[in-house]
Amino acid sequence: MRKNIFIILITVLFVNCKQSTTAQLQTSASDIADIMNFLASDDLGGRDTGSEGLEKAAHFIEEEFKKYKVAPYFETYRDVFDVKGIETYNVVGFLKGTDKELAKEVIVLGAHFDHIGSGKEVNGDVIANGANDNAAGSSAVISLAKQFAQLKNNKRSILFVLFGAEERGLLGSEHLAKVLKEKKVDLYAMVNFEMIGVPLNDKSYKAYITGFDKSNMAEKINEYAGSELIGYLAKAKEFQLFMRSDNYPFYKQFNVPCQTISTFDFTNYNYYHHVDDEVSEMNFEFMADLINSCIPVITKMANTPQKEIKLN
Ligand SMILES: [Zn+2]
Repeated sequence: MRKNIFIILITVLFVNCKQSTTAQLQTSASDIADIMNFLASDDLGGRDTGSEGLEKAAHFIEEEFKKYKVAPYFETYRDVFDVKGIETYNVVGFLKGTDKELAKEVIVLGAHFDHIGSGKEVNGDVIANGANDNAAGSSAVISLAKQFAQLKNNKRSILFVLFGAEERGLLGSEHLAKVLKEKKVDLYAMVNFEMIGVPLNDKSYKAYITGFDKSNMAEKINEYAGSELIGYLAKAKEFQLFMRSDNYPFYKQFNVPCQTISTFDFTNYNYYHHVDDEVSEMNFEFMADLINSCIPVITKMANTPQKEIKLN
């Protein structure tokens, strides 16, 4: 009897231990809430280029990177550039690949963390909090950095980039793409996250990708995910979204697959560049689920012996 209890105890301990390891390597809705509640708070004033709020956001992201031992890619986490006399920056974290050869190949995971500052007044509110656009995408990149820093299973290197001055015309991504090109970085692919805070309605897939027919990225993502994670959205093509976010400067510089994952389809969210783009409108459960679905996908991207994602 005693012996049995002992065995049961050991089994329970082992199972619990296993569960807590897996649980740790998942992003929870409350993890997302913590990031979103900070980045899209009124205190950050809409994260405009050159603002104190953007500085606070950058500092927060740097602290997250430090906490999880995501290294600065440059001398510091900041990649500084100029926007018409205003000094601003991208925040860039780096996880070196674990394989000597494959580590030379780089995957960029990105999202812009700046926003427009203020907007047209509604009920006395002028702060454009930019919760969906794009604290949401930023929370994905921060969470993925945290997960991969703990997993330590990326043979290829990964850059985690929070872009500045996207709202001023994709200026942060343009700057960094140029710098990486000059450094002759071997870019495998770039995956950008934009407006993933609200689920799509009546779609079989969880998110769409811009530039769907430019590469086999969607097909490979679904293969790696083992489910229909990514689909084709006709509106994305109609509005040429492929050219309207930070993936585009990378595509222009490197001519490799660089695409944006989004769930904003022009019908499921009324607050694009609106002061009501607030945290209260976000679906944290959905976001966490989407981000967690990306973990096996990026793991596979970072580990296949050959570059499997290619332009068509
Ligand atoms: Zn945006």
